[in-house]
Amino acid sequence: MLENALEIGENPKELIIYASLGRAARSWEEAHRIVAALLELEEDETLVLQTGRPIGVVPTSPRSPMVVSAINNTVGRWSDPERFYERAREGKTIWGGLTAGAWQYIGRQGVLQGTYELLRVVAERHFGLQAGEQALGRWFLTAGLGGMGSAQPISARMLGISSITVEIDETKASRALETGGLDELTRGPAEAHRILKRSIDSGSSVAVGLIGNAADAFEWFADNDIVPDIVSDQTAAHDARYGYVPAGYELDKWVELRETDPARVETDARESIARQVEAILRLQGAGAVAFENGNNLRAQALEHLGEGETERVNRIPGFMAGYLRPFFARGIGPFRWVCLSGSEEDQRTVDELAATLFPNRPEVAAWIELARTHIPSQGLPARSCWLGHGERSALARAVNERVADGTISAPVLFTRDHLDSAGMTNPRIGTEGMRDDSDGVADWPLLDAMLLSAGGADLVAVHSGGGGYSGWMQSAGVSVIADGTEGAAGRLSRALDSDSGLGVLRHATAGYEEAVHSAGSGGETGNAPVRLIAAPPDVAGDDD
Ligand code: NAD
Repeated sequence: MLENALEIGENPKELIIYASLGRAARSWEEAHRIVAALLELEEDETLVLQTGRPIGVVPTSPRSPMVVSAINNTVGRWSDPERFYERAREGKTIWGGLTAGAWQYIGRQGVLQGTYELLRVVAERHFGLQAGEQALGRWFLTAGLGGMGSAQPISARMLGISSITVEIDETKASRALETGGLDELTRGPAEAHRILKRSIDSGSSVAVGLIGNAADAFEWFADNDIVPDIVSDQTAAHDARYGYVPAGYELDKWVELRETDPARVETDARESIARQVEAILRLQGAGAVAFENGNNLRAQALEHLGEGETERVNRIPGFMAGYLRPFFARGIGPFRWVCLSGSEEDQRTVDELAATLFPNRPEVAAWIELARTHIPSQGLPARSCWLGHGERSALARAVNERVADGTISAPVLFTRDHLDSAGMTNPRIGTEGMRDDSDGVADWPLLDAMLLSAGGADLVAVHSGGGGYSGWMQSAGVSVIADGTEGAAGRLSRALDSDSGLGVLRHATAGYEEAVHSAGSGGETGNAPVRLIAAPPDVAGDDD
């Protein structure tokens, strides 16, 4: 999985996997040491990783994790971006992203379904889209075609929604075109809009890439009263130094200046982000549905505009509080698997199991069909599939049986994004606007990691935010391998059920009715009970 993440990552030479700085290991030297240690590891041993380097091997048991990893966790007063950058420069720390340092990255597919589910809920809620229908004629204005952002036009296409995605780096935009993520690539916003309109008028959908700066382009659309149906952004705006190119900067000047004059780059980036946010607010005022897609865009704009503008800027809702939380409350979130054989045949078998095991939720089978049609493969055959409490372990056990009887040719790894029901605390992204005001409470990912270790997951990771996310994020990650053994069946059940079960309990405790119901009814399958003891708070229930 480490090698897979590097193979499909954004900049493997520097071990950068995605999100501008998310790294798989501290250095290449440490990466080689990690691989050497893993190759020698015994069944009853656990490899300890500290911030992307191997520290030692300790005797545990065959039911214990193979790897435990903690990345960049520092006490509160150390968690500021300046200290992070300084220590990172000195080789003393890294940011592990969410899935980068825990080797769970599966390419753009990892967030693709999240964006798809988000756009689907938007289209259902605002445009009256019914299950199975296409939202042809609707269009989405967004930016960023990086590791994660390049999923946006594909997610929109799955729903028949056309898109214009602004990207400053021509190499990234061309790559999206070559790999099928875009249908057309152009330079001027007027030309991009002409292409879009031509396609919509002819009754089809199109994914247009627009080479340019997002602040300038979004302003152009607002100035010309060209209003998309949906507007968002997925540049790496969370990091004002390394993630967002200020308007007027050439790429090579930006790369140079962020080392020689970082303060200026950050000021200029925040000013441009503020312009982009103003344009989004104007488009929203003219009828577009706007949301922030997990990249701290609003917080960066507020650094420039001042706290006094908070209420106005927050008219743009975050994607979680605005749309996705009801899924997380039921433990439904970005679950995924990877066929370690590399065999497409194995992938088909797991896809078919997932499509048939949950007849009560036909959206799962519909997603598998869409994913097979629209998602170009990257690295080892992998699938992201939003499954809920009880469903994840049920699928994993079924796969484990197929590995045991040889239908599937090699072990399959089950994992999830850290941005999941129990695994994440980020008061600006995943846990914004929690009903019980627990947005910044980091107990949940820590409890999650403890439960995952107790349940015998194969890899358990605890990450904290770095760079622009310093002090804003705590997450837990998990990987469990179905190798066909009885031991694996137990570990898959315990680890996956305790993970999604804790997510359900967390949301029940916070006052989400879906979660209280899920806890009482044994999850989505009825076979995964968790016992709720805490009394949910008395909440009004209309805050999200
Ligand atoms: P990335 O660094 O790989 O890509 C960012 C892209 O934005 C780059 O291609 C860059 O050239 C482009 N860009 C930067 N400034 C620009 C500008 N002013 N105009 C146009 N293009 C510009 O990052 P990524 O992995 O794609 O992640 C993007 C963001 O999404 C990050 O902030 C990340 O933390 C966040 N994220 C959100 C979720 C989620 O669940 N919604 C998941 C993963 C990542």
